[in-house]
Amino acid sequence: MLRALKADLHIHTCLSPCADLKMSPLAIAEQAKIKEIDIIGICDHNSAENVPALIKAANKYKICVLPGLEITSQEEVHILALFNELKPALRLQEIIYDNLPGENDEDTFGMQVVVNHKGEVLRFNKKLLIGASTLTVEDVVQTIHSLNGLAIAAHIDREGFSLIGQLGFIPEHLELDALEISPLISYEEASNKFDPNYPITCSSDAHFIGDIGKSFTTFYIEEGTTEEIKKAFLNKEGRKIIH
Ligand SMILES: [Zn+2]
Ligand SMILES: [Zn+2]
Repeated sequence: MLRALKADLHIHTCLSPCADLKMSPLAIAEQAKIKEIDIIGICDHNSAENVPALIKAANKYKICVLPGLEITSQEEVHILALFNELKPALRLQEIIYDNLPGENDEDTFGMQVVVNHKGEVLRFNKKLLIGASTLTVEDVVQTIHSLNGLAIAAHIDREGFSLIGQLGFIPEHLELDALEISPLISYEEASNKFDPNYPITCSSDAHFIGDIGKSFTTFYIEEGTTEEIKKAFLNKEGRKIIH
């Protein structure tokens, strides 16, 4: 049965050095419940190490978690990768890690905490997650698709770390599934400003608990899977985005 499901597809956890340490799996899941969000995308910078804990924590609240990463390309463009399952997200993480130089400096960038579902510290990630990978935007999008994921250009309206901000345009041959806009711009403004051939998602890019669900996309779909979301992007079989 098709129904309206609210999705915030871009949420960081305490693993992202720039995110609040209070972004624990339970706190995120609880806040999503409060904001009546049905589907959350967990997209830490260049990593998916806190996704397993999120899946476990969100289970209690019956919130669907899409494993994801926010990848930084060589050009310093942020691209979201979203999957149905943990396995391809971890495979992508492996590929990114192999192409991500540098080591984190906690004093400069912040801590990168890997936790369990109770929020207990398992380890500190030492990679420079805030840094850029050596993969180009094209490589990133291709790799995401080779693993059956969705590739979405993050916060396209922002100057910093967005496809348009960094490159000045959307490369024609780039097979993006959608463009994401930040809470700083309305859907109406964005649909006038950006290429109408791309579907637009609205997400919070939450780094703090209170920001979860600040912006969201309502999908008219059967369930929270990337296949259903893809159909909504393409307006297939009655699936759509409700604006
Ligand atoms: Zn970003
Ligand atoms: Zn982000």
